[in-house]
Amino acid sequence: MAATGAKRVGVIGAGMVGVCAASWLQRDGHKAFLIEAGEPGHGASFGNAGCFNGSSVTPMSIPGTIRNVPRWLIDPLGPLSLRWRYLPAIAPWLVRFVRAGTPQKVHAQARALRPLVGPSLEALRPLVSAAGAEDLIHRLGHLYVYRSAESLAKDRLVWELRRENGVEIDEFDADELRQLEPALSRDYVRGVLVRENGHTSSPLKLVERLLEHFLHSGGEIVHARARGFRFDGSRLTAIETDTGDHAADAAIVCAGAYSKPLAAVLGDWVPLETERGYHLMIADPEVMPRIPTADADGKFVATPMETGLRFAGTVELAGLAAPPDWRRARILLEQGRKMLPGLAASHPEERISVWMGHRPSLPDSLPVLGPSRATPDVVYAFGHGHVGMTAAPMTGKLVADLVSGRPPSIDIAPFAPGRFG
Ligand SMILES: Cc1cc2nc3c(=O)[nH]c(=O)nc-3n(C[C@H](O)[C@H](O)[C@H](O)COP(=O)(O)OP(=O)(O)OC[C@H]3O[C@@H](n4cnc5c(N)ncnc54)[C@H](O)[C@@H]3O)c2cc1C
Repeated sequence: MAATGAKRVGVIGAGMVGVCAASWLQRDGHKAFLIEAGEPGHGASFGNAGCFNGSSVTPMSIPGTIRNVPRWLIDPLGPLSLRWRYLPAIAPWLVRFVRAGTPQKVHAQARALRPLVGPSLEALRPLVSAAGAEDLIHRLGHLYVYRSAESLAKDRLVWELRRENGVEIDEFDADELRQLEPALSRDYVRGVLVRENGHTSSPLKLVERLLEHFLHSGGEIVHARARGFRFDGSRLTAIETDTGDHAADAAIVCAGAYSKPLAAVLGDWVPLETERGYHLMIADPEVMPRIPTADADGKFVATPMETGLRFAGTVELAGLAAPPDWRRARILLEQGRKMLPGLAASHPEERISVWMGHRPSLPDSLPVLGPSRATPDVVYAFGHGHVGMTAAPMTGKLVADLVSGRPPSIDIAPFAPGRFG
């Protein structure tokens, strides 16, 4: 229960992060309401790979990443693409990204992330069981597969960071891999299984069920676009939206990749960018892996979902406004057929669906989580990049700690909004 008395709290954005934050605030005795500009759960939280990977402590920028960039950019099937016209806009972010990847910094970033992502499934469990959504969560682990011993060796630092943060792994050779996932191509000769990880078979349904429970328990949702905040002195009185003001004692900014202008109105500058990602789904596929499986070189994940097989991944740097380049999604199909040779060589178009979404990303791969500079009444909780589904449950708990005046249950100093100067 809230230590400082119940507050009326407006949570801006009904993605996985916002819905988890609203749910934890409600469980804490606050009167929470969501403000959503579009459809709840239809942002980045819609089409991701659905993995709850507590082991995902490795930042995107690590020593050596930058060496791979030219190769990735010229490979049409590669995991990274950049719209050259967007280069001037994203250049300062890229400079910060490269600077974040020193050996010392990546060890610190991984240490900071582990308490946020490690307890993900534990922090999600009470929400999921209250919402009757247990059928959507599976704890079968996460399998990383490699085409050569050399490529596994190149990931040495990635596994070192996971191991030093308490992640336990099982390694498999080619024969063992075959037994574990018979559908996988014989080109894969090494596998690493992280048993602690889990996944959802429908990210959208998960958000929707959590939201439904929140609404049944007295929560509200306002369909509007948040634009700013109203104050009496330094105390928040309302959240300003395109349909009018909504009275609030506290506000949480969980608008994913669209959060930057909301922080800017309070004088906080954060280098938030979007790393656009794609998915391609095959309904009624000929084969599916049992466990979510990541092609470590191709940097995509194959996840068994309720409605079919989802290949998700790739990073495209092109900003929020550019239209999707569906060739990026088609690449995933080409890669996926190589991963799972039992898939048909072609599928009727009605069985294929594609999606593009905006990962909200900071250059140091850490979210922005903490009070605004202007007032403790506005708390930021955005920028979870590649791990937002996983980090959402703990983020929600931390937001409730802050609003209730309790010390956060983990160290949130590395996520400070002001760390970019
Ligand atoms: C291809 C791909 C695969 C991924 N795979 C995984 C994975 O396996 N595991 C994992 O942990 N993460 C994964 N991610 C990352 C994850 O999807 C995101 O980090 C996470 O969904 C972000 O959640 P969010 O709630 O912050 O943002 P969103 O889901 O984008 O929600 C933000 C919401 O805010 C609303 N909004 C925006 N502006 C306003 C405003 N002004 N007023 C009101 N509402 C507003 C939007 O409409 C939206 O509904 C993946 C991402 C991609 C693209």
